[in-house]
Amino acid sequence: MRHENKALVRALAALACEMCGAHSNNAAHHIVTRARMGGDYPWNLMTLCFRCHREWHDKGLGWMLKKWSHLLGRLHFRGFQYDENSGKLFRSHDIGEQE
Ligand SMILES: [Zn+2]
Ligand SMILES: [Zn+2]
Repeated sequence: MRHENKALVRALAALACEMCGAHSNNAAHHIVTRARMGGDYPWNLMTLCFRCHREWHDKGLGWMLKKWSHLLGRLHFRGFQYDENSGKLFRSHDIGEQE
């Protein structure tokens, strides 16, 4: 079952957007999507404003990485590696693992 942490998701929605710094209509974005069983872990969540969130889902990670130079660092900080050739993210630990 997917790990849920509603309090964490709510708390992250109150922070500034990690891409543009905006403070309005922010939400927690799952880096590994819920559809792929990405849980509510701190390393899998990122605060995004409405605009950046929509852009990420519309245009994808590759687009966001080109637009925001600091995004790759944010992903590395969370233990992700980005493979430019496949456009896929990898993480050293199993994504479903409890931490
Ligand atoms: Zn934003
Ligand atoms: Zn999202």
